[in-house]
Amino acid sequence: MGSQLTINSESSWSRLKQHFSESFSGELVHGRRASDMDQVDEHRLKRRRSAYRYILLLLAVILLPIDAHNLYLGELVPAVGGLLLLGILMANILLLSMNRDAFLSPALVLLLSISLVSLSLYYGQNYALYLLFPLMVALPVLLKTRWAVSMAVLSGLLVSPLILTQYDTATSSIIGLSMGLTWLVSAWLVFSMTEQSRRLKDMAVKDALTGAYNRRYLELQLDHALETWERYQRPASVLLVDIDFFKRINDKFGHALGDMAIKSLVEVISSNIRSVDTLCRYGGEEFVVLLSETAVQDAAKVAEKLRNLVEHTRVMPEGTMTISVGVCDVAVVDDVDHWLNLADGALYLAKHNGRNRIELAESVVEPLAPVGKTIPDWR
Ligand code: GH3
Ligand code: MG
Ligand code: MG
Repeated sequence: MGSQLTINSESSWSRLKQHFSESFSGELVHGRRASDMDQVDEHRLKRRRSAYRYILLLLAVILLPIDAHNLYLGELVPAVGGLLLLGILMANILLLSMNRDAFLSPALVLLLSISLVSLSLYYGQNYALYLLFPLMVALPVLLKTRWAVSMAVLSGLLVSPLILTQYDTATSSIIGLSMGLTWLVSAWLVFSMTEQSRRLKDMAVKDALTGAYNRRYLELQLDHALETWERYQRPASVLLVDIDFFKRINDKFGHALGDMAIKSLVEVISSNIRSVDTLCRYGGEEFVVLLSETAVQDAAKVAEKLRNLVEHTRVMPEGTMTISVGVCDVAVVDDVDHWLNLADGALYLAKHNGRNRIELAESVVEPLAPVGKTIPDWR
């Protein structure tokens, strides 16, 4: 599960590319699934399997009349080809309905279908041309961008000579243009639908002010990190970050500027952690960074780096501010609440020991006296 925090909005081109690289991929097909099954979202896989099944069903419905006609005319080559392809489609539909992987990738299925329609065109079944339109719709739905474009170009090259021999140039151009438009409209629709669901998903897991992940998402990630530790002994650590004397910043400069300071802090942290790390807004001006594959010593180095960076970055127009950080390794905890409590204890210790510092959870021995406030670092 990618947990890269993207604060600056990505360009629509990169989102478009990302979207298509996430379209139906090899994960639907046996032997080509993602290597780490923990990373595959089972729910998404189920949805894709069922969508793939419907598209295969649609292809079968398209190919059936062509095949029947070829059989009726005694055109053996396209007829036998069509029967074979129908068999392949039905077998894949069956596998997908049993919630198993298909054995033929969407790219191959589409390539075979387009070839069969072209073959029928070659044998004089002109009406087969119209069946290329639903195939143009299916291309962007089923394939990654590069494949969908290559396949559209390939089908164009395959059928253009056939069309040109049967229609005049003007009619051929209109057919070609409308096929291209069908492809484009389908690609755009698929893109905007995925964009919409991406936005909704973002709203469900991210904090509106900062764009950092929310607490609910954090809990899921912590659960996952804890399971990964228990099963594979792969380390992880959390940093609990709290801004020092934030109330005074609010009081002195106002709430709006306080908000800006919170946003700047998120920018500083997110641009200095790895894409596999997760930054969450835990409370008002408290954040949790989940560092995957990182044991406490390295986590302490990251915490110290962040603390130092925040201290020396002009996060507010009016000056600088500081943070205190509690660090806790997954290896010393029993459950997620325990993990966060230990990190909180370490943060409390950092505040107690003067703020603008980091503390490790191991150093929390017993309850401490109330925190004594010192002079804030901001000017
Ligand atoms: P300490 O060094 O002990 O952390 O002192 P502090 O003043 O930062 O104390 P605390 O962490 O308890 O302060 C939380 C304050 O953060 C309380 C609230 O006024 C402020 N705050 C919480 N959420 C927001 C927010 O979204 N925007 C702004 N501007 N302020 C917030
Ligand atoms: Mg604070
Ligand atoms: Mg606080």
